[in-house]
Amino acid sequence: MLSADFGNLQAMCEMINMSEAEWLHFDVMDGVFVPNISFGFPVIEAIKKHCRKMLDVHIMIVEPEKYVQRFAKAGAGMLTFHYEATTNPQHVIELIRAEGIQVGICINPDIPVEKLEPYISQVDMVLLMSVFAGFGGQKFIEQTYNRIDTLKSLIDKINPSCLIEIDGGVSLQNASTLFEHGVNVLVAGSSVFNSTNPQEMIVAMKQA
Ligand code: ZN
Repeated sequence: MLSADFGNLQAMCEMINMSEAEWLHFDVMDGVFVPNISFGFPVIEAIKKHCRKMLDVHIMIVEPEKYVQRFAKAGAGMLTFHYEATTNPQHVIELIRAEGIQVGICINPDIPVEKLEPYISQVDMVLLMSVFAGFGGQKFIEQTYNRIDTLKSLIDKINPSCLIEIDGGVSLQNASTLFEHGVNVLVAGSSVFNSTNPQEMIVAMKQA
């Protein structure tokens, strides 16, 4: 929803409710972990009232452990934090679990995928950034395919039910290749909201 029209969030929710999109993805930025600020709890809470899809909340914030409870209360169904934003990823995973919601862990493109190995057995989803976290509308980094392959072989070995999500520069052009590499969840911002028919674009991407 970073790419949505913030002046008309209710219309965005109605479009998403009517669409084939399964989740609504939120990019929360704190101006510290990333050099940008997006939105916080009041926006998530407001959208929660109107949106019938699961809220997939991606927090690009330092010390995520301080805010887990508030994001859960605001309506997150999946809460994904950055491995590199905390000194204790294990603790963050446990805090999210304690809220009874799904747990995701995320890394930027410069962090080796192998660093996540100890956590794969404990999370519902791994989010690989295919651009550097911080801004919408960036170009997909091609090296991401190799990183997906590495992650996919770890997941197959350790926790086959763990989902792979890709965020950044996802479009109709790369959707089918991403699915072929084993990706389960595509985050699409500008490619959906800037298209002439967002609902048709969502269908096309899912069928890619
Ligand atoms: Zn995101």
